[in-house]
Amino acid sequence: MSQVQPQGQTKKLRQPIVVVLGHVDHGKTSLLDKIRSTAIAAREAGGITQHIGASIVPSAVIEKISEPLKKIVPIKLAIPGLLFIDTPGHELFSNLRKRGGSIADFAILVIDVTKGLQDQTFEAIDLLKSRKVPFLIAANKIDRLPGWESNPDQPFVVSYQNQSRRAKEELERVIYGIIVTKFSELGFQTELYTKIKDFTKTVAIVPVSAKTGEGIPDLLAVLAGLTQQYLKNRLIFAEGPAKGSVLEVKEAEGLGTVIDTIIYDGIIRVGDIIVLNGKNGPIITNVRSLLMPAPLSDLRAKGTRFVNVSEVYAAAGVRIAAPDLENALAGSSIYVANSVEEANELSKTLQSEVKELIFKADKDGIIIKADTLGTLEALIEAFKRMNIPIRVADIGNISKSDVLEASLTAKKNRSLGVIIAFNVKILPEAEAELANSNVKVIQNNIIYHLIEEYENWSENLKREELQKELDSLIRPGKFKILPGYVFRRSDPAIVGVEVNGGIIKPGYPLINEKGKELGRIMAIKDKDKSLEFAKVGQAVAISIEGKILIGRHANEGDEIYTDVPLEHAMKLVSQFKNVISNDELLTLKEIAEIKKNSGFKEYNLLLSKIKDILDKKINS
Ligand code: GDP
Repeated sequence: MSQVQPQGQTKKLRQPIVVVLGHVDHGKTSLLDKIRSTAIAAREAGGITQHIGASIVPSAVIEKISEPLKKIVPIKLAIPGLLFIDTPGHELFSNLRKRGGSIADFAILVIDVTKGLQDQTFEAIDLLKSRKVPFLIAANKIDRLPGWESNPDQPFVVSYQNQSRRAKEELERVIYGIIVTKFSELGFQTELYTKIKDFTKTVAIVPVSAKTGEGIPDLLAVLAGLTQQYLKNRLIFAEGPAKGSVLEVKEAEGLGTVIDTIIYDGIIRVGDIIVLNGKNGPIITNVRSLLMPAPLSDLRAKGTRFVNVSEVYAAAGVRIAAPDLENALAGSSIYVANSVEEANELSKTLQSEVKELIFKADKDGIIIKADTLGTLEALIEAFKRMNIPIRVADIGNISKSDVLEASLTAKKNRSLGVIIAFNVKILPEAEAELANSNVKVIQNNIIYHLIEEYENWSENLKREELQKELDSLIRPGKFKILPGYVFRRSDPAIVGVEVNGGIIKPGYPLINEKGKELGRIMAIKDKDKSLEFAKVGQAVAISIEGKILIGRHANEGDEIYTDVPLEHAMKLVSQFKNVISNDELLTLKEIAEIKKNSGFKEYNLLLSKIKDILDKKINS
């Protein structure tokens, strides 16, 4: 690295880009708000600088806030500050992409200490892993631990010393009993930041409260310390043309379509040639204006004022106005080019980047439609992790051809005849096609909900299919003909019975204790009501059609069995062994013995399977 630096000059570092991720309600927004308000309170040190989609906390502010920690975290900052992405969450983070990684340098994974790791925590860990982003854990809401006495805005280490034994023990229980244990199951070593010797091997846990501000000094000091020490090479500022990522594509009054970008390297100037991905291929255009929020304006309030600037240095969040941005894609990389030739070269790189994400494969699989490259990529990764094949991945609304593709798949495999739609609409002609198909559309604007809904839906489908299969089988059942309840002797025979094993249904073929076939159950009635089935313990009337004459083939007091075909029985003891009851299993055993004794040797294998299952049940 040193040879590219002019001699005698120290390398200039840019601000690390920091994102906040975690499960809903664990305190991501509150934590960002608290960091901002703490920084603003340190006004004489410079407060914060507002960018588009991001805020910068300058080093002087970090040093002032973490002053009381000097002994524990001795920092002399070489980075100019930290750039926090203002909107927390996985959707925006997904758009901070660059090939094979993220433009985010570091992440804060927020975990509510009263809840522990939840679904989106795991999703965040997967995302961070796949984008190779280092992170620390903010163990949030420590003020809610039983017995915790709040010390507003104090460093965690100071507040901790003031706590009772009980509160300290509660904190230990969460940190070691939950966080450290769970993360080690996931293959991460984690530890309270004050006890870490080697930060390259261990993920730091920083206890904080986004409500009282306790731990915010520690959080800022650890973030700044870690990023400048371990990410130095990544943070060396190049004086060259800018590189960045498109966070959002928006309509702005008087400006047309604009793009909100995060620039992670170099410089961008008004008039520069820029290259980025669009819906119909790469876009090459010229920067018409660069906009930043006017100082002291509140970005959340409506009517934020913007100022025009002539150039912007990384790291920064900046709004770019330029012609031809109508089709720009959020999640795309954006590059400044020195010449038209260079722009053409860069557009080739961008095109290949998109090819990996937007594809159509000739195989059975789900269809994914998303509004940005980032969310499309995150969904592709998530479904690949679940080993779900993908047929089409594309940007844009759901079209008729998407539905046709999905219905082709649905015919072969229902569980893959699905369209996963992130923040896109269903076009009217697709709507009409959907009405005639059995394609399932799952729409949501939260990645995690899409995945959860798909999982629930496909599990339900599996359950339904299994139930259908089970319903098609003849199941084991036996009953006794009650003495004095023979209403008719044949054609059909009508008798009162008590079911004393398994289940019986109309249509089931019957045998007697010797294995002789007796005909089929026509109907089951309880008084005048027809029943679809009768189970062990029920007394009902049944009619039997076929070769049965009461008095000759069967008598009052006899036990009659259902004639379970071997193929059905084998399915019951393999596919459905966890579904059928012990009572059914024992009845099946009796039936198998009757069949074996009447000459069907092949029932021997069934008997040994039943024995295995019964043995296992007894042992457990
Ligand atoms: P997000 O969904 O992760 O962005 O979570 P929010 O920041 O919206 O917080 C969810 C809820 O938890 C809100 O009611 C917050 O006021 C509350 N909350 C967040 N951080 C803390 C904290 O440190 N202590 C307490 N007591 N409440 C908190």
